[in-house]
Amino acid sequence: MKYGKSMTLAALAATTALTLTACGGNDDGGGGESSGGDGESVRIGIKYDQPGLGFKDGEEYTGFDVDVAKYVAKELGYSEDQIEWVESPSANRENMLSNDQVDMIFATYSITDKRKESVAFAGPYFVAGQDLLVSQDNTDIKGPEDLEGKNLCSVTGSTSAQKIKDQYAGTVNLVEQGGYADCVTILGSGGVDAVTTDDIILAGLAATDANSGKFKVVGNPFTEEKYGVGLPKDSDKCQAINDAITKMVEDGAWEEAVTKNTEGADYKYNEDLNPPTPDACA
Ligand code: GLU
Repeated sequence: MKYGKSMTLAALAATTALTLTACGGNDDGGGGESSGGDGESVRIGIKYDQPGLGFKDGEEYTGFDVDVAKYVAKELGYSEDQIEWVESPSANRENMLSNDQVDMIFATYSITDKRKESVAFAGPYFVAGQDLLVSQDNTDIKGPEDLEGKNLCSVTGSTSAQKIKDQYAGTVNLVEQGGYADCVTILGSGGVDAVTTDDIILAGLAATDANSGKFKVVGNPFTEEKYGVGLPKDSDKCQAINDAITKMVEDGAWEEAVTKNTEGADYKYNEDLNPPTPDACA
């Protein structure tokens, strides 16, 4: 994985993309979703600020989510140049699917019953676990129970923030941001004591050149986050996507993508939970 960008630039890029989105949406030419392979584009929502998962560096899009998305798109009949990448921050995902701004989302997007009320999911294609990121020299935070009276950063609209609100409300002071890179910047300046989200996201952020040596993932995951492919509720693509994910695991491309995208990060996926078998489509 290349971690060449400083987080300041990444954060700036994310902010710019958000501003553009707010000013009139993506530049989809109105083509929308096609049934695949007939010259139309497919709009895929990813994160732009999560190194190793979904990351935009100039016109280059990298990360495990991006690689799974490319593989699945190809199986659905789309070439890489038919993919239109769209930034999908945590808080916007359900709305972007419901409002026809994207055709599918690969963005560290946990499958939950609450989200299933408004969107559909294929997958899962990966299982992560919620963890904590702290300063390298921190010795007193080993799990969520050590956060009493502490300032903790997470992201609006994430299961990570929701878990803290549901189980640790009143003890922890939760600071919410639009993206995890913003949280890590605040952690670096001492504004919060820890950042919480999925272990693989934290490991990717900690391994960037700009953050190298500054932070550590606690390594005590306390949830199971099953990453699904977000789809509009009426989508008929679930089974084809599940078949593509199964094929990706079977032909070794899944393992290759995880290895490539976590290289240089201090991260090993949970082998008891990965690679997962996709759930039956509703
Ligand atoms: N996987 C969690 C979620 O879907 C946290 C990561 C994220 O915000 O994308 O909310």
